[in-house]
Amino acid sequence: MSASEQAVVQRAQTYLKRLRSTSRIALWQLPLVAAITIVAVSAPAPWNSESARPLVAAGFFLVCAAGAACLTVPWDRLPEQAALLIPIADLVSIGLIRNAGDGTLQGLGTLAVFPVIWIAVSMRSILWTLVICFLGPLLITAPTLNDAVRRGFPAGASYSLLLPILMLTVAVAIRTATAGLRIQERMLRAQQEQLRSLLAESQATERLLSTILDAVNVGIVAIGPDALPVRSNRRFREVLAASGWIPAMSEGQGQLPFLAQDRRTPVPRERWPLIRAAAGERIDGEVFWLGTGPDAMALSVVARPVEGPEGGAVVAFGDVTALATAVDDKAELVRTVAHEFRSPLTAVLGNLDLVLESEHLDPGDRLRLEVAERSAERLLDLAADLVASSSNAIPVRLGFADLRPVLAGRADAARLAAVAAGVQLAVELDDSLWACIDPLRVGQAVDNLLSNAIKYSPDGGTITLRALRSDGWIAIEVRDSGMGISEDDRDRIFERFFRTSEARRSDIPGVGLGLALCSWIAERHGGRLEVASEPGCGSVFTLYLPASGPTG
Ligand code: ADP
Repeated sequence: MSASEQAVVQRAQTYLKRLRSTSRIALWQLPLVAAITIVAVSAPAPWNSESARPLVAAGFFLVCAAGAACLTVPWDRLPEQAALLIPIADLVSIGLIRNAGDGTLQGLGTLAVFPVIWIAVSMRSILWTLVICFLGPLLITAPTLNDAVRRGFPAGASYSLLLPILMLTVAVAIRTATAGLRIQERMLRAQQEQLRSLLAESQATERLLSTILDAVNVGIVAIGPDALPVRSNRRFREVLAASGWIPAMSEGQGQLPFLAQDRRTPVPRERWPLIRAAAGERIDGEVFWLGTGPDAMALSVVARPVEGPEGGAVVAFGDVTALATAVDDKAELVRTVAHEFRSPLTAVLGNLDLVLESEHLDPGDRLRLEVAERSAERLLDLAADLVASSSNAIPVRLGFADLRPVLAGRADAARLAAVAAGVQLAVELDDSLWACIDPLRVGQAVDNLLSNAIKYSPDGGTITLRALRSDGWIAIEVRDSGMGISEDDRDRIFERFFRTSEARRSDIPGVGLGLALCSWIAERHGGRLEVASEPGCGSVFTLYLPASGPTG
């Protein structure tokens, strides 16, 4: 059906709906009342006949009464088929008028077509439709038929049978024509019912989903490809209200109080979680700070793109403020304690140095003092590691520098310890290793990797420090042939204070802070630290630094 046809059907349906059922029934009756009135007015003969007048008057009265009943009876409160009494009454009144007088009104029998159509269209039972549509007109012509039979006039009898047969044919034709429509109507009604139940079901699911979403304490938002929220839960709206997020998002330039994990560095707009999620990026538990001061919130963000042509993404914001604050407090405590250790340790080392310079020391005492000095040095290193690893605030000053002298210097410094441990140290450096780095921090990271490689190669072997430039990265690789790391441990070695069971068992000193620090230094340079290892065969730690400087 074309759009214009649909519009016409819709308009007709609206019009019919507006008509009250009484008016609709009256419309059916109107043509017959009009036809009989015209006959009554234009054919005065029957009124003049004594014998015909009562029948004509009765027929005329009945048809008018039926017309009045159409308008006055509250049909919508009665059973649907009750209105069919009207066409049946019409058949009776046509019969009365037709058979009045001397037969001049016999042609009126054809008016039976009005009630017959009405019955054929509206009656539910096919059998009753056919019975009434045949018997009604048959009764109308019954006196003429009877007369013809009595007079032995077969032509007259068959003429009288013509009307019922004609009306039966009309009824059959109408039923056949409307059968398709009725089936369609029934199918439509079934579809409507199905749609209604589907709608009710989806509304119930929708309500359940909203309740579940509102019950969780995680802010959840679905966004469109333009990064604007399409749907969100209660918690997300609370976060929005607290941060003034929406105006900033829709203006596209408002400065959101989004800060990186250090709680200081503003996150640039293209790194905002919703913008990244809308671009199809998956985010896994990245932490952002929203706002500053006592109301600041730490949000752990998870984002997944919506598969399908509509695009967009779903982003969840978990409030991890308490956890992040606790971690910060713990780091602050560790930093303070470690810091407080440094002054007395420096004093101990200074005094030990002075004592060890003396030539009058007993060799046994010297040995003991040297052990004490080495232990104090280890403690000082540990304190420095603790301060560095527990602080997100240690400065990283980036600038263009050549990595070659930095790496060669660190290798030279590690050589003494390597020789003492019976390990060979090889160095392979590319010619061009310029990058935007903080040489001090990169040196610190390489120191850690080299000292680990030496420490965790208790049976000697070879360590190789390589640095090469490829695909916009500078890869600094520290390879050893030591004890290696199991697959399970490999996922955790960058965590603070994590040590492999192998390392703990073999009594190798350490606290599990060095790699966390290396990884942090790599990130601050816009790079990353990776490990590949095989237990019993050795490990390769690779520090990737962007050759053109950090991206963030
Ligand atoms: P530490 O060496 O002080 O324990 P790190 O953070 O440097 O702390 O290392 C964490 C853990 O990773 C170590 O305890 C050790 O178990 C493992 N590890 C690090 N480097 C190596 C390596 N080269 N070979 C084998 N295991 C290593």
